[in-house]
Amino acid sequence: MDDSVECGQCGAVGLEPGFVEDSGEGSRGFARWIAGPLERGVFGGAKRLGRTRWEIEAYRCPQCGHLELFARREM
Ligand SMILES: [Zn+2]
Repeated sequence: MDDSVECGQCGAVGLEPGFVEDSGEGSRGFARWIAGPLERGVFGGAKRLGRTRWEIEAYRCPQCGHLELFARREM
């Protein structure tokens, strides 16, 4: 998965692989995708106990800047 990724906006190939950063306190440095709609707890934070997390791969189009996101690996 790299050269075969095609931009969904302009159709360019050779998208640049990357990931979405999460620089929040206590975060591991990357954002994850969690199945199910967002539910907030008492303090406004997302409830995510027992939910499956997926690693997000983000491919950037060098032509138009569009991001193609894939949730690939279950964590
Ligand atoms: Zn594009």
